[in-house]
Amino acid sequence: MNAEKKFDLLVLGGGSAGYAAARTAHEKKARVAVVDGASELGGLCILRGCMPSKTLIYSAEMLHAAQQGEIFGFEATSPKADLALMQERKKKVIAEFADYRKEQLADGRFSLFREHGKLQSKHEVMLAKGEILQADKILISTGSRVSVPGIPGLREARYKTSDDVLNLDYIPEECVVLGGGVVACELAQFLSRIGTRVTILQRSNQLLKELPLDASLALQAQLSEEGVELLTGVKLQKFENGQKGETEVFFEQEGRSFSKKTHFLFLGLGRTPNVDQGSLTELGVTLKPSGHIHTNHFQQTSVSTIYAAGDCAGPHEIVHIAVRQGETAALHALGYSVPALCYDNLLSVVFTDPQIAQVGLSTEELKNRKIEFLSASYPFDDHGKSILMEAKRGYVAVHAEKSTGIILGAECTGKDAGELIHALSIAISLKATVHQLLQADWYHPTLSEIWTYPLDDLAEEIPAQ
Ligand SMILES: Cc1cc2nc3c(=O)[nH]c(=O)nc-3n(C[C@H](O)[C@H](O)[C@H](O)COP(=O)(O)OP(=O)(O)OC[C@H]3O[C@@H](n4cnc5c(N)ncnc54)[C@H](O)[C@@H]3O)c2cc1C
Repeated sequence: MNAEKKFDLLVLGGGSAGYAAARTAHEKKARVAVVDGASELGGLCILRGCMPSKTLIYSAEMLHAAQQGEIFGFEATSPKADLALMQERKKKVIAEFADYRKEQLADGRFSLFREHGKLQSKHEVMLAKGEILQADKILISTGSRVSVPGIPGLREARYKTSDDVLNLDYIPEECVVLGGGVVACELAQFLSRIGTRVTILQRSNQLLKELPLDASLALQAQLSEEGVELLTGVKLQKFENGQKGETEVFFEQEGRSFSKKTHFLFLGLGRTPNVDQGSLTELGVTLKPSGHIHTNHFQQTSVSTIYAAGDCAGPHEIVHIAVRQGETAALHALGYSVPALCYDNLLSVVFTDPQIAQVGLSTEELKNRKIEFLSASYPFDDHGKSILMEAKRGYVAVHAEKSTGIILGAECTGKDAGELIHALSIAISLKATVHQLLQADWYHPTLSEIWTYPLDDLAEEIPAQ
């Protein structure tokens, strides 16, 4: 075997998880190969995920703010979305990020193979053109793809995915969104704000069913105020394509049958791991019922030479988790001691308006673990800075251990929640108590100082140690 084709670590998939693993392994002087068969390098986050969605969502947020001119005391002559200009800006922004990532992958630190690869054995990957690469350890970081559930007619239906929404070159008149998860909610509000009449069909009784009910209710109220129609408790039955480019969605709600025709059916029912189940199971790699690759806390699969990280491993489809998993996998695979991954301090943000952010353990999880805790919350509509900003929707909440005051979880739903939550994320990762956080300065008037209200309430209840 040619020495150039033998590696310490082979990374299959050069997205967020794969790049993080390759960079980490290179820093440890390992011989690293990255195999990625995408027509364009960059991964989901940069090309079709976080960055393009947040660029467009921010444009729509600015548009929405401009449309509120009257409230703030300035004249704005009916600002409207110019999708061509929004897309032009997005392309420019994304091109810069993608170019930078391509440079990072191709700068010679790793051997980069621009082909699809398939796991061949515990130490081998076969490239699309037949070449075999050997490595001591292999990391699978092949990401995820849009999930298309087996509802009759859905596969044949003319549905659009988040990729299509992010690349739209026209403003659809109307749209039916299937699903009420993070991506569905973020892009439904984007579509509504650029001028599309949006209906969301959601199976459970609230949007974002994994998140606290109060957060979901705040978002539902905002969407309804903006004219989004939300149907919850919906059971999708079947889909039929019509003669004029429309698709008819048949569904049940409260035991009654309904149907809705749309020219823009946005399939937002989540993503599924992008893995070659056949070759993995053949080699003895265990998969979870969800199709994710099962790993231990160091991202090692049931086959000790094979690791998995990012969306294909789960359990969270979040970039900073993919990066951390990639780094952990690389270090562990190379024999370094590394802390086991734990998601007790998990940070998540939904980029709707109001934004919804959460960190640490939820009240549900705290109850499940039988941890004695106290919670306190405070609404944005009673806080000086948010009142003057007309950002009155939402709340903050802090959950602290009853006996010690150590902060275990926090929620923030409201303006800039994705920024505000970081103060509590740092506190939680440092195991700070409510009393310690109250020793910090909180500048007046800022949105951030809203945290002092629940912290004060908790400090009154919990004696300082
Ligand atoms: C619309 C949208 C918005 C999102 N917004 C956010 C957000 O705001 N914040 C956040 O944290 N997360 C967000 N996410 C999720 C986030 O983008 C993903 O969790 C993350 O990008 C996953 O990284 P990854 O490395 O696992 O996969 P990817 O980045 O998808 O990388 C996988 C790579 O593997 C390659 N590949 C696949 N199969 C093969 C093969 N057989 N051979 C060779 N190469 C292969 C692919 O070409 C790809 O480059 C969003 C996702 C979407 C869809």
